[in-house]
This record gives sequence, structure tokens and C-alpha cells, in this order.
Amino acid sequence: MSVVKNDIAGMANASGVSSVSDAGSDVEVLREQLLSLRESHAALEETVERLQRERQLLEDILNAIPDKLTVHDRAEKVVFSNWSEEDTYWENRGGDRDGTVCFGCFFRGEKYCDQCQVEEVFETRKQKVIELYNPQTREYRSITVFPVACKSEDCSMVAEYVRDVTATRKMERELRVAKEAADAANKAKSEFLASMSHEIRTPMNGVLGMLDLAMDTELDEEQREYLESVQNSAESLLALINDILDFSKIEAGVIELDNQAFRLRKRLSALHTMFVHRAEERGLDFRFSVPDSVPDGLMGDPLRLRQVLVNLLDNALKFTESGQVQLAVDVVQDFPDNSVEIEFSVTDTGSGILEAHQERIFDSFAQADGSFSRRHQGTGLGLAICKRLVELMGGNIKVKSAPGQGARFSFIIPFQLAYLEEKPVARKAGSAEKKPVAACRGRILVAEDHPVNLLYIEKFLKKQGFEVQAVSDGTEVIPALREREFDLILMDIAMPEMDGMGAAKAVRASSGLKTPSTVPIIAMTAHAMKGDREQFLAAGMDDYIGKPINSDNLLSLILKYLLQNQA
Ligand code: ADP
Repeated sequence: MSVVKNDIAGMANASGVSSVSDAGSDVEVLREQLLSLRESHAALEETVERLQRERQLLEDILNAIPDKLTVHDRAEKVVFSNWSEEDTYWENRGGDRDGTVCFGCFFRGEKYCDQCQVEEVFETRKQKVIELYNPQTREYRSITVFPVACKSEDCSMVAEYVRDVTATRKMERELRVAKEAADAANKAKSEFLASMSHEIRTPMNGVLGMLDLAMDTELDEEQREYLESVQNSAESLLALINDILDFSKIEAGVIELDNQAFRLRKRLSALHTMFVHRAEERGLDFRFSVPDSVPDGLMGDPLRLRQVLVNLLDNALKFTESGQVQLAVDVVQDFPDNSVEIEFSVTDTGSGILEAHQERIFDSFAQADGSFSRRHQGTGLGLAICKRLVELMGGNIKVKSAPGQGARFSFIIPFQLAYLEEKPVARKAGSAEKKPVAACRGRILVAEDHPVNLLYIEKFLKKQGFEVQAVSDGTEVIPALREREFDLILMDIAMPEMDGMGAAKAVRASSGLKTPSTVPIIAMTAHAMKGDREQFLAAGMDDYIGKPINSDNLLSLILKYLLQNQA
């Protein structure tokens, strides 16, 4: 300490300080200033060190980012870049980045690349995103260029953010190719379904039709018994084929619901007639409840609605040994826009279903209990089809049940109301009326190439009292109409030379024939795929009937058009 004091005194003397005591206080001040300077210097050094560490951290982070970031200033110089590695995309890359224009340091070029967005972003101060492809390296880069450090009117820097998107684009391309392959496979499946549907239904039409005719001939008891059992088996086979085809069509997304005006009560009463006898035969009470509040005219698909209800009622009868089965219909909600939600429920007092099985029974090929179902025939497809159909109609099917307590299947469907004109009730075509309809004679041309189907239709129509002429190809239709006047044409769709649609178009475009070009044409089709109905109508046909042909439906359709023309 004394050495320091002596030094300071020496410094004071050298500076010409007069008295030793004055010099002592000045030295004290200087000493304090020096100490504070030292402290400030140490703090400054610490701050500089901290900032350097932080800068290094930021730089390390930026350099570690796999994407490339470059910041350009107004003078087109590179202010910062994390391009530390070679990037195969930019073949000319190389050089020193510091303080050089980007094309100089990265690409050794003499000007900005053609696609460069830096200048434009300096002008517009708006972000731009572009994507580049290098055909040599087969790589893609997504480049985002955005302004940095912008003041109100100016922007001092622009940054470029370059990301390698080659893997993403490759994956997208692979997904696209896979989707195209899946679409093609799905289309092939739909086409297979369409042709299988046709191939199976056509011979089934022949089997059932000829059986129908055979049952009307004179048979001894034994023969009748045999034929009845053939008929039962054929009908079960058809039901099974229909279920499998329906299910596959729903899965392939090729099923299309109709949206036509229909009378709900008329459809429900047909169901009542169908099930009341079957319930009686099994000693069950069949109840039916449709209060007046349920509207009658609705828009929807009555056939699919019927399909669901028939399935549920079939099951209810199948799994109920005693007690009752009830079909109830009720309004859930009325909406001011002329729409309504209706609940349909089928309740039985049968075996019921364990809670654990209740979800599963709506899966395809699922049965609540394998051993039980062996006693009761079935494929396990019925409820899966019902579920999908109800969903297509905008509803959701539910089950409430407990073992030994019966089951209640219900679903709610939204409908638009339809205002149907009151029409005189048309002649009812029930099985009891398969007798000749004398009041409605007419001459019908049948175009059908399948000999067994043709034989059945011809015989059936002749029995009803119609005059029938047959041709086996679309090309023979016009010559037949030239010769005679027909009241109606039944037209098969798939025929060898000219199909039914071609023939229908030819009829509508014809003139000067004995049969007018407006003659009703009903398509007969084993196809029942999405869009078919529209195609038939677009070809000029009036209606269509699916194969295997149900004789009651065929007769009522024919009567509808003949009566219309006679009116
Ligand atoms: P299946 O052709 O076997 O009847 P479903 O899909 O219609 O096929 O029904 C699946 C299973 O659900 C049936 O096998 C049966 O176990 C059960 N199930 C359906 N309805 C009822 C019911 N009303 N009562 C009891 N079990 C039922």
C-alpha cells in the first residue's frame, strides 16, 4: 500500500501539485475513478462475452437447421447464410459467402437466377413462395422469400428460406399412383359386380319363372311337393345372392338411393299383409301402429326402406318363439321447411341379444351366437345391409335388447314431404289376380335373347290375355314395329347385336311405322347399378323392372302404362 501511496505522490509531484495534502485528496479521487473504470470495463467484457455466446448459440442453431436460410441486404450482399453444406441441387455452388452477392458466392454466376424473387420482395415487401425442380438431380426445392427488418416504407433485408421437398413430392406422387391403382381396382370390382349380378340373375330368372309356370300345370301331390321344395330353395338362393350383391354394391359405393314421391301407408300396408299371415302361421301376434300424425306423402326410396323393414321383421319372426312382433311408425319432429323425421321400430318378444353381441351383429357376416344361428338360417349380412342402407338414408340404426326380453330395432330417417294428388285407386295386382285381365288386353312386343326367360315371359303374358310377339335382338325391334301396332314393348338391356338402349333410341327416333314412336317401353334388366336408371330413361325408356322378374310387379307395371294410354 505504501508503495502505491509513494507512486501516487510521485505522480502528484510530477503533475506540479503544490501541497502534499491537496495532492492526497486528488489522488484519492483518481483512485476511485480508476476503480470504477475497472469495474465498468469488467462488466463490459462480461456483456461482450455473453453477447458473443448468445450470437454463437443463434448461429449454431441457424446452421443446424436442415433448411437453408440466406439474408440479403439492399446492396444485394449476403448478410447471413447457413449454407454450410454442399447442396446437390445447386450444381454451381461454391465460393466465399462473406460480403458477396448471392449469385457470386453460391453459384459463381454473374447475375441472379431467372427464378430469383429477392428483388421483387424488396419492391413489394410481400412474402413469395415458389417451387423449383432440377431435372438433372430430380430434386425439388420449395423457396419462401420474405422481407426482414421492414420500416413503414422501406425494407432493409430480404430472407430466402429453401426447403428440400423432394421426399414429400415423391411420397405424394406414390400416393397419387396408388390412389389411381385403387380407383382402377374399384372400378374393375364394380364392373365385375355388374356382370356377375347380370350373369347370376338371368338364369335365376329362368329357374323361378319356369317353376312358377310348372306349379300352374297339373301335378300329382308328390310332384307338387318336390317342386315346392325346389321353389323354396331357389328363393333362398336368390335371397342370398341378392344380399351378397347388395352388400358388395354398398361397399363399392355403387348403390344409389332413389328419391321419388311415395305413399308411406300404402307401402306399410303391403308389409302388413305380407307379415300378418307369416306371424299367424308361427302362432305370433302381429301388431302394427301408424298414428294419423304420420304424414303419408314422402320423398325417398320406398324399396330400400321396405328392404330394411322386411329384414328386421324377418329377424323378429325368426327369433321369436311366442308372444308378439310389432312394427311401429311415429313422427319424431316436424320441421317448418316441409321436412319431417320419422322413427321406424320393430319390436319382438323373442330370445333377445346379449349386450356384448349388440354392436357386433351389425358387422358383416356376424351372428350373435353361432350355435343359435345354425338353428335359424341366415348369412349375418342382413343387419349389416340394414345399417348401411339406413345410413345412406340419413339415419342410424339402434338395438335395445336383453336376453330373454326380446329386442327393439329402431331408426330415425329424415324425409321431405311430398304432396301427392289423390288418384283413383289403380287395379291392384296381387297374386290372387294372376288371372287373365280381360279389361286390359293389348299387344306386347318382347325383345329378349335368353330363351328360357323369353319362354317364361311369353307364357306368363299370354296367360294374362295379352297378345305377345317376341324378337331376340334389338335390331329386330324396328322391323317388328313396322309390321304391326304394339301397345307396349318389354325390352331386355343386354342383347347380342343391338342392346336395349340402342333399340329404344331407334324407336323414339322412328316415324312412319305401324306402332307410334311414343309406345311405352319398359326395360328388363339384371343390372341394378348406380346410374343405370338414369341411362335407361335417357335412352327414352319409360320404366324398368329388375330381374329376376317378379310377375306381380311386371303385371302392375304393364297395367299402369296400358291404362294410362287408354285413359
Ligand atoms: P342373419 O342372416 O344371420 O339373420 P342378420 O345380420 O340379419 O343376419 O342378423 C345377425 C344376427 O343378429 C342374427 O344371427 C341374430 O343372432 C341376431 N339378431 C338379429 N335380429 C334379432 C332379433 N330380433 N332377436 C334376436 N337376435 C337377433
